Amino acid sequence: MNVIIDRMACVSCGACWNTCPELFDQNHCDSYSEVVEDYRFNGDRAEGIVPDCLCCCAQEAACLCPVHIIRIS
Ligand code: SF4
Repeated sequence: MNVIIDRMACVSCGACWNTCPELFDQNHCDSYSEVVEDYRFNGDRAEGIVPDCLCCCAQEAACLCPVHIIRIS
């Protein structure tokens, strides 16, 4: 499963990193959500490979994002 965050549209509400902190975190420079380093795809903060054990919380985070910018596929 893959995840993509449209980071530039993030409103930094915290829903994703509070719901699924193993996968999402707040970037300390721009304050937007990012994929944690361990699960990034090609080092990209906005893209990640979701391990099976985190699929449920990743989907829950995507559902809770108020601006619908977390895509799971
Ligand atoms: S839930 Fe959406 S808007 Fe909120 S911090 Fe995460 S990506 Fe940004």
